[in-house]
Amino acid sequence: MPDRTPYIAANWKMHKTVAEAAEFVDALLPRIAATQADVVICPSFLALHEVVERRRGTAVRVAAQNMHAEQSGAFTGEVSAPMLVELDVEAVVLGHSERRQLFAETDEALALKVPAALAADLEPILCVGETEQARDGGETETVLERQLQADLANVEPGDLEKVVVAYEPIWAIGTGRTATPEQAQEACAFIRDVLRARGGAADAVRILYGGSVKPANAAELLALPDVDGALVGGASLDAGDFAAIVEAAG
Ligand code: PEP
Repeated sequence: MPDRTPYIAANWKMHKTVAEAAEFVDALLPRIAATQADVVICPSFLALHEVVERRRGTAVRVAAQNMHAEQSGAFTGEVSAPMLVELDVEAVVLGHSERRQLFAETDEALALKVPAALAADLEPILCVGETEQARDGGETETVLERQLQADLANVEPGDLEKVVVAYEPIWAIGTGRTATPEQAQEACAFIRDVLRARGGAADAVRILYGGSVKPANAAELLALPDVDGALVGGASLDAGDFAAIVEAAG
């Protein structure tokens, strides 16, 4: 099995002004200087440039939180892959549950966005996850498989290892409720099986867990065999807490 470099991403959602983003990066960088993990910050569009410039010369990478599949056009309020690449952004979160639930993001749109990101050399961080109702109804695997098959429909098997997948059970996002280690491992192993069945190098794909990850539970979750990192929301807003999670990844 290939070694998978741990991957820890900070999803700031609609938090932090440009000035606050700058302050965070300055506080974070000295705290994570020794890490071997891939560390990614996902600020708002407006703070991307500031974060890209502040982290120059370090291994910290920067991701947008969404993008449109088209390169340009009459899509008011949207941002395209070439616009992100021009800023030296390296990755993009796609299909976050807040986009799916609050902004009507569809699997059809994601089937276009994921290959558009890959074509632009942006690393897609594709989020999948079930609602509480689906979990209680024993539908978790059905939901995950449906999302993965639809969202990756236009990705060649040879490109699969360039995608990062985040397993984010919706009932655990921003709620303080975390999946148990058994639930996280089971879902991430299932995701890897679905990727394997698609014919890609599934053992090379980084699969993250997201849902109320914090310094107190990070080490246990990150030690799971199929959990290769974390997508962190609330606890990524504090440089000390986020640094502690990065440290737990090694
Ligand atoms: C997220 O925003 O993807 C997330 C997992 O949030 P939180 O860590 O706050 O649950």
